[in-house]
Amino acid sequence: MSRRKIIIAIDGYSSCGKSTLAKELAVKLGYNYIDSGAMYRAITLYFLRNSVDFSDHSKVLDALANINLSFVFNEHRGASDIYLNDENAEPYIRDMIVSEKVSQVAAIKEVRSFAVAQQKRMGRKKGIVMDGRDIGTAVFPDAELKLFMTAAPEVRVVRRFKELYETNPEITIDEVRHNLELRDYIDSTREESPLHQAADAVVLDNSGLTREEQLEFVMRLVDKNLSPALSEGEGGVA
Ligand code: C5P
Repeated sequence: MSRRKIIIAIDGYSSCGKSTLAKELAVKLGYNYIDSGAMYRAITLYFLRNSVDFSDHSKVLDALANINLSFVFNEHRGASDIYLNDENAEPYIRDMIVSEKVSQVAAIKEVRSFAVAQQKRMGRKKGIVMDGRDIGTAVFPDAELKLFMTAAPEVRVVRRFKELYETNPEITIDEVRHNLELRDYIDSTREESPLHQAADAVVLDNSGLTREEQLEFVMRLVDKNLSPALSEGEGGVA
């Protein structure tokens, strides 16, 4: 008997290690991993490339009508790449120029409705791990397992700096710190589904935990979640 599938929602501030954990969990469980931040980043990339005035709601709506986002699994990375229309946008969406604007774009109501509608569709069949800022609060408020990840601010800055330095040795630690602080501030104070911990989320502070320890911790929660009941139609008494 195969185990029933659940939705795992992972939220938290920028660079808390959400995507690393989400990716590993998805591999372990044979689930899809969806990086919802990549969607907001790809939309921002489109807006920047096409000089969309995002203070103008009708221009935003026109632009969104020309955007098609999809995810295609990349064997090499062990995760899905995001496609912006027909182009693999993965190489560009983490550039500083996108990071500097993404939180402003993600705060726009029309942008959120567009992204959230697609995210909800992706979760229809369950068996999904999605990370972001509003996954447990707005996208999947009924997710079977919700995690809220935190890490000490300086741990996050150094982590992000190391990641970005690989492709951009010009970057400075102050630039990274400033960008994380700014995004955290905008993400948690915006009007539309601001980042906050869902009441039923389990907090995971990973400042001093290895990847293995984090995965073990969450796998225990998954097992607990899956063990108490059989899924509907898998042996229930009518
Ligand atoms: O996860 P990542 O840091 O790549 O996300 C980039 C930005 O996208 C965040 O700083 C936030 O502004 C936005 N975002 C969001 N809601 C999500 C995921 C990301 O607003 N579910």
